[in-house]
Amino acid sequence: MSVVVVGSANVDLVVDVPRTPGAGETVLGGDLRRSPGGKGANQAVAAALAGGADTTFVGALGRDEAAELLLDSLRDAGVRVDLVQLVSAPTGTALITVAPSGENAIVVAPGANSRLDLGTAQTARIALADVVLAQLEIPLDAVRAAASARNPGALMVLNAAPTRELPDDLWHTLDLLVVNEHEAADLAGTPEALLERVPAAVVTLGAEGCLVARRGSEPVRIPGIQVDAVDTTGAGDTFCGVLAASLARGLDLAESARLACVAAALSVTRRGAQAVVPTVGEVAAARG
Ligand code: ADP
Repeated sequence: MSVVVVGSANVDLVVDVPRTPGAGETVLGGDLRRSPGGKGANQAVAAALAGGADTTFVGALGRDEAAELLLDSLRDAGVRVDLVQLVSAPTGTALITVAPSGENAIVVAPGANSRLDLGTAQTARIALADVVLAQLEIPLDAVRAAASARNPGALMVLNAAPTRELPDDLWHTLDLLVVNEHEAADLAGTPEALLERVPAAVVTLGAEGCLVARRGSEPVRIPGIQVDAVDTTGAGDTFCGVLAASLARGLDLAESARLACVAAALSVTRRGAQAVVPTVGEVAAARG
């Protein structure tokens, strides 16, 4: 029943702006908000809190105050942080402006995330996991090391975000790919084409839910849950964390995707990334 998330952690610095500044332009914004984020940390929080799995986060942080904010958020969600690496680079930071239309402009300074380098303590924990979940905000070598450290009976899940070209040797190590529609199009064009590279893929479709595709069987459409969406930041991360946790709990892929849709829909009704992740109880109540 355990998940290891290998990924990024960033402090999100968010300012509301009247409009997204153009090149050379300065715009006065609202008050600065500072919140824990990064795909890896968000997904670890979701796996533990909303997915109910024993979850370890493996990532790299700086030796700075921003790291404390991230560690506190992970610990509060019940995530194990004993294998986090503290490195000589600033903690990853995302600079985010949000225009009244909801349009985001984001610059990420990866900092410590780009120094993640798995050691024997990390690979030993990965070898014990039922599900290993990674994303692409960390060096590909770290993803590769995680994939090769896993137990042959465990699942290697990659959320290929942000998308980048993946070498063939990495594709071969994956059991499940999770991407949104745009990422699916960038990587392969169609879900069918994705299945030529991985045995199973889940394509998230925003408010429309998701598509579960498996080699040799008909794709299954999981409908979205109707909610009043306030902020879709981190919806994909909540989805991935709960999907991985549910698979680790022994649920099948379609049922895991159903729970992931419920949890992600609950998360978009509130503003923020980690602070909006629902609890296992809230997900179960909404699943009905
Ligand atoms: P990403 O956030 O990575 O771009 P999506 O937009 O596809 O990914 O959202 C991920 C999941 O979050 C969806 O599969 C769905 O379950 C849920 N979700 C996202 N937006 C909404 C929405 N407006 N209403 C309900 N559920 C949503």
